[in-house]
Amino acid sequence: MYYGFDVGGTKIEFGAFNQQLERVATERVPTPTEDYDLLVSTLANLVEKYDQQFATKGSVGLGFPGMEDADTGAVLTVNVPAAKGKTLRKDLEAKIQRPVKVENDANCFALSEAWDDSLQSEPSVLGLILGTGFGGGLVVGGEVFSGRNNVAGEVGHQRLPIDAWFLLGDSGSAPLFQCGCDKKGCLDNYLSGRGFEQLYAHYYSEPKKALDIIADYHNGEIRALEFVDKFMELLAICLGGLLTSIDPHVVVLGGGLSNFELIYDELPKRLPKYLLSVAKTPQIVKAKHGDSGGVRGAAFLNIKQ
Ligand SMILES: [Zn+2]
Repeated sequence: MYYGFDVGGTKIEFGAFNQQLERVATERVPTPTEDYDLLVSTLANLVEKYDQQFATKGSVGLGFPGMEDADTGAVLTVNVPAAKGKTLRKDLEAKIQRPVKVENDANCFALSEAWDDSLQSEPSVLGLILGTGFGGGLVVGGEVFSGRNNVAGEVGHQRLPIDAWFLLGDSGSAPLFQCGCDKKGCLDNYLSGRGFEQLYAHYYSEPKKALDIIADYHNGEIRALEFVDKFMELLAICLGGLLTSIDPHVVVLGGGLSNFELIYDELPKRLPKYLLSVAKTPQIVKAKHGDSGGVRGAAFLNIKQ
């Protein structure tokens, strides 16, 4: 039995999966926001409860918005204050007497998609989230590749490529957005749903929700047509750089903007000119597991091929 936890800012979702990777139990509880001991015991109690229910000792994986310091194991997160700076994995392991795997939620998303029936035979899968932010995770051979510092897949903090800068208007009109990481020009602020809205507001001096911009596009509104055209090119430029360096077999898109179906028509047309000439555009598909990706991926951290 594979247990997964998706630890968010307000709730913890637990899921149990059998050997066929089917979900057999789900439970949601509020995240203890300030009390670390309560956070650890909440997780441990769920593990023990389902161990009893299934008469087994399930493996445990945990996904959360943030990462572990690769050297100290201390949790780096802003969204789960109770866990900040704590050695959550080690403390939970001591309490439930088994190893615990931990990954950030974007890596869990990618892993969840990579283990979908349709993609299991793919050697590598790059998951990209076009949501509130722009993030991602890389899965190679069915396992998350997290790198030396657990930052592999943090695509949102790559800076705008030069082609993108010229597309956006060079120093004449290209906006240089400030990122939460203290740098300027990170892709997180351009390719996310938030970025989509920020860019629109920058060019047309009018705040508008992404869904409304997309509705305008479908209604043939001239500014929305022009803006979406620019955004699709921006996406192709930025993904072109990523795909050239990572060369994944499949790209899976998740997050709110991934529901904009036009992306799946436009990227294959626009990407080739930003790839090396020998490279073919990989298959680009929409995520299938949506909101349950975090807990599925966390559980699947323990799958051995
Ligand atoms: Zn950044």
